[in-house]
Amino acid sequence: MRVGVIGGGLAGLFSSLNLLYAGCEVDIYEEHDRPGYPKHCTGLVSEQTMKMLGRLANKCSDAFFNKINLEIPGSGNITLHTSSKIVHLDRVCIEERLAEAILGLGGRFFWHTKAILGRDSTIVAGGLTTRYDHIVVAEGIRREIFKKVYKGGDSAKKVFGINIVYKARNDLEGINIGFHPTLAPGFFYWIFPISDEEIIVGLGTSEPKTSLRAIDVVLKKYGISNAKKIESYGGWIGEGPILKRQLKKNLTFVGDAFGLQKPLTGGGIYPIVSSFTYKNSNSCSDAIAEIRYGTEKVASILRKQMPIAKVFHSSYFYYILYKIFRNLNGTEIRDDYKLINYDRHDLSIQRIFLHLPLFLKEIKI
Ligand SMILES: Cc1cc2nc3c(=O)[nH]c(=O)nc-3n(C[C@H](O)[C@H](O)[C@H](O)COP(=O)(O)OP(=O)(O)OC[C@H]3O[C@@H](n4cnc5c(N)ncnc54)[C@H](O)[C@@H]3O)c2cc1C
Repeated sequence: MRVGVIGGGLAGLFSSLNLLYAGCEVDIYEEHDRPGYPKHCTGLVSEQTMKMLGRLANKCSDAFFNKINLEIPGSGNITLHTSSKIVHLDRVCIEERLAEAILGLGGRFFWHTKAILGRDSTIVAGGLTTRYDHIVVAEGIRREIFKKVYKGGDSAKKVFGINIVYKARNDLEGINIGFHPTLAPGFFYWIFPISDEEIIVGLGTSEPKTSLRAIDVVLKKYGISNAKKIESYGGWIGEGPILKRQLKKNLTFVGDAFGLQKPLTGGGIYPIVSSFTYKNSNSCSDAIAEIRYGTEKVASILRKQMPIAKVFHSSYFYYILYKIFRNLNGTEIRDDYKLINYDRHDLSIQRIFLHLPLFLKEIKI
């Protein structure tokens, strides 16, 4: 079976690898000229996601954290000691590894080639029209093809995200995350070290125009001076699934193109990786069916997280958080009972409620 994949980002590459394992012939169209670029993602993932990535991600991570400092400027901060690590994954490294494995299995890349969905299961690219038995759309958050196919359009919520890497001596510990209605309206900011000499500062915002000024404010807040900018990158961050299920028989949407992001943090790596955990398909058509099932299953999990994100990202909740943080300022929470799950925010809330007395004991109330 011949499968055409539009988009050579993480979701397109993962789909291609799984399809090749199952014996499909795979062509990948990517409008940029190499894997992993242009960068856009912060790359924070759970230890569990790293385990799912397995050997592919060997030596693709440079920092590990067991500590998250949550803060509300002017109110207070709470420190969370997580029971499992949060890992900074090098997205370029993992995408290069995937591309290498795909080439090794006979996948064909068409770099620097923008592809358009043609009629009757065809892809139009570089002046050629090619017919495929199946097409995987992994075009990311821009969702041009999605909007054409589902005429209702893309109703998913998004914020603009930016990351700046600085060379700066620092003694930052853990990942620092802050909520503020003008610095990061509708989302949050983050600052963490990748070494004693380098940090990443970033934020998601519904007001992209003010993002650079906001980053300066965050840097100053953390006492970082003489910081030399090394690079900056970013893009739109989605806040949750758009579709419940795949709707066209010969067309499968994956990754950001399907809206597979954790609604609270916009994290898209865990949803992608966990939609492709099957490697034992007997045939190409089985592999396609499994990818479709995987994306739908993950979408249903993510949908459960949407109400949590809606509350957390609302300006109303900010004022409640402000009061909570003022009362709990300086509190250290050790998650010895594994109540917090970095990927399954729905389970975290469920477990915190189920173990409320334990949790309150933890935060010494
Ligand atoms: C600022 C920021 C921070 C983030 N931080 C995190 C994080 O810490 N952790 C996390 O888990 N997730 C994070 N994410 C989300 C994560 O990056 C995405 O969910 C993930 O990259 C989605 O992968 P994808 O393959 O679906 O899309 P993409 O990575 O966007 O890949 C899509 C690819 O398709 C190509 N393409 C599109 N249309 C065409 C076409 N017509 N023809 C040919 N090629 C095409 C594009 O060039 C691109 O390479 C972040 C995102 C942003 C913007």
